[in-house]
Amino acid sequence: MSVKFNVPDTIEFIRPFITDGPLNGMYEAIEVHFHWGSPLCKGSEHQINQRRYDLEMHIVHLNTKYGSVEEAREYDDGIAVIGAFFKVEKTALPTFHPGLDTVFNTVPFVLLYNSSATTNQLFTLGSMLANINRDNFYTYQGSLTTPPCSQAVTWIVYPEVIPIPLFQLQNFWFVRDDRGRKLLNNFRPVQPLGAREVYHRSADEYY
Ligand SMILES: [Zn+2]
Repeated sequence: MSVKFNVPDTIEFIRPFITDGPLNGMYEAIEVHFHWGSPLCKGSEHQINQRRYDLEMHIVHLNTKYGSVEEAREYDDGIAVIGAFFKVEKTALPTFHPGLDTVFNTVPFVLLYNSSATTNQLFTLGSMLANINRDNFYTYQGSLTTPPCSQAVTWIVYPEVIPIPLFQLQNFWFVRDDRGRKLLNNFRPVQPLGAREVYHRSADEYY
């Protein structure tokens, strides 16, 4: 369970997409959701050098050669997920990135299970990534972090962390699950690396 928003078509009637880099084909953005912890525990799913962060955002993309998530998750090139971290900084102001602010400010309106809210704000999906350097990322082949946890995902994880003020994180701690309890720590435990390789691409390496 999470807070998520579905990505609509753009005003040009196409969905935002990513391509190139570690990806073969075109991947359309379909959904953005979050993983968080609790007042006692940081909640990111990924760790970088054993370090966990307060909040992790996933932008889920579907390979356009498949018709649905159900179909795409049967194939190892089916899905690509961009992961980004957020960290509370006492001095952080609201982000002033229209996408992030719109989403964070909507969280208090969707605290109850199965509730939804609509926003008429226009923003780019790119603005959800604030100012992080998009040439610096880790990539690996992995799985969905929610059941059925299919091995269908090309992960693209940015190590650069986006600062947010505490109240934007705290909004997530009031979200309720299907039984009305606080939904906390909705991250999957870190999985063994096994035989998988993790690649780090940094723009600096090319100079
Ligand atoms: Zn996720």
